[in-house]
Amino acid sequence: MCFRPAQVTMTACPECGKPNKPVSKVCESCGATLPEPNIVTMDDDPSNPANAKRAAQQAAAPAAPAAPAAPAAPKPPTA
Ligand SMILES: [Zn+2]
Repeated sequence: MCFRPAQVTMTACPECGKPNKPVSKVCESCGATLPEPNIVTMDDDPSNPANAKRAAQQAAAPAAPAAPAAPAAPKPPTA
């Protein structure tokens, strides 16, 4: 027998913080998608070509405009 103590790592909901079963795909409380601890996510692996490509795309894309669009200049009345 391989008795294991009831020490299950609960997956805390990233949205509401509710502990969910590791097997849960979504939060029992709010329904948010839960991370899957058993699956190695490639999101933070820079050595992964897919992520490197995505990171490059994100780096190339402007995060935000440097300045908001200038307010419309008052047009001179066309007389
Ligand atoms: Zn939740």
